[in-house]
Amino acid sequence: MITITKDKCCGCTACAAICPKHCISMRQDEEGFLYPEVDKTQCIDCGMCEKVCQFLHHSPRREPIVTVAAKCKDMSMRLASSSGGIFTLLAEAVIKQYGVVFGTRFDDNWNAVHDCTETVDGLAAFRGSKYMQSDMGDCYARAKEFLESGRVVLFTGTPCQIRGLKNFLRKDYDNLLAVDVICHGVPSSKVWQKYLKEISGDCNVALVNFRDKRQGWRKYNISLGVISDKCPNPQEISCPFGENTYMQAFLSDLSLRLSCFDCQAKEGMSGSDLTIGDYWGIEKVLPGFDDDTGASVVIAYTEKGKDWFGKLDCNSRPTSLDAALRNNQAIISSASKPVYRDYFFKRFVKTGSFHRALDDTKSSAIEKRLRRLIYRKTGL
Ligand SMILES: Cc1cc2nc3c(=O)[nH]c(=O)nc-3n(C[C@H](O)[C@H](O)[C@H](O)COP(=O)(O)OP(=O)(O)OC[C@H]3O[C@@H](n4cnc5c(N)ncnc54)[C@H](O)[C@@H]3O)c2cc1C
Ligand code: SF4
Ligand code: SF4
Ligand code: SF4
Repeated sequence: MITITKDKCCGCTACAAICPKHCISMRQDEEGFLYPEVDKTQCIDCGMCEKVCQFLHHSPRREPIVTVAAKCKDMSMRLASSSGGIFTLLAEAVIKQYGVVFGTRFDDNWNAVHDCTETVDGLAAFRGSKYMQSDMGDCYARAKEFLESGRVVLFTGTPCQIRGLKNFLRKDYDNLLAVDVICHGVPSSKVWQKYLKEISGDCNVALVNFRDKRQGWRKYNISLGVISDKCPNPQEISCPFGENTYMQAFLSDLSLRLSCFDCQAKEGMSGSDLTIGDYWGIEKVLPGFDDDTGASVVIAYTEKGKDWFGKLDCNSRPTSLDAALRNNQAIISSASKPVYRDYFFKRFVKTGSFHRALDDTKSSAIEKRLRRLIYRKTGL
């Protein structure tokens, strides 16, 4: 029976999905992350949950077969996507073959959830990054049903979600195309919900765009659209990502899940066919290819992934993993746990406020730095 420590569980849900007695539930902890909880009275000690856990079994690192820079030709699609729009091209190709696409959408309360679609129109909800952990629900089991029935399945997610799917399936399917996104790490849905409530006040949120490229891809904005009874026309709350408090906590690693500091699924360990992400630094590597509307790095780990990508009608240039890594270490490396990560969450739990926790953490960090400076100058 599975037992976990929080730094060694990414919440992939493979254990809950495989349990023959359905006696594992995913429960939210006080930081807002989901962890498995076993109903011991139902457990038959079959050991399946341990067999599929990525923190209990080693997976080999893999070398890419091919690495390319790519972008979809349609400018409006590129602008609507986080990077170069390669997800949409792959998804459309799969749907053309009567396939099914799994990805992350927002639910009615702006929680990120995994779901599937069988239509091109349905892809719009999956487009664009949602920077928080998505709830997998029963998507592993649903994907398996489609695969067993012979349908082509494109399953997209973070590397640990793809590794969770592959461990759950426990066999290779020719009709599965597994694609992971390069992953910096994930904040919890609770952190996101608190932020959203505090920023939108009494208004209802009508739109969230984590990658508003109107000012360009490199200097993207985070934009929200809000409406209220008093003012039914949507109002925009928008600022550059570096000034957005949610992104400050995310990008400085304060709000990340503990397992993200020891990720077991990067560098091909997820078992994905393709990895897609931002080609940061493309302006230096391939200046002629860059127009600041978004470019993707696409890494093929299998012949199947290479073949699917090879059939897409996109602009692409050969490149190397080393070149892509120069500005994107998240492809292979976990974030380092910041000294103040636990303090941030302690304040978050205590105050029940995202902004109070962030402000307290910033002040505490500044105070400590100031004390160190005074000590260095005066010895006091
Ligand atoms: C939490 C997170 C962290 C990321 N960190 C990095 C990074 O450090 N470096 C980097 O280069 N790229 C990172 N990315 C990937 C990048 O933001 C783009 O998602 C990716 O390049 C695909 O872009 P696209 O233009 O092809 O298509 P888009 O349409 O932008 O891609 C959307 C794809 O992302 C999936 N997705 C969206 N939100 C989530 C989620 N919460 N969980 C799982 N899957 C999701 C969708 O299902 C779809 O497959 C991250 C993405 C996420 C979700
Ligand atoms: S040991 Fe078997 S029955 Fe018990 S929780 Fe794990 S998978 Fe479920
Ligand atoms: S990492 Fe996944 S399989 Fe392992 S305990 Fe956590 S949720 Fe279960
Ligand atoms: S960093 Fe690793 S463990 Fe964290 S969400 Fe991303 S893939 Fe999962």
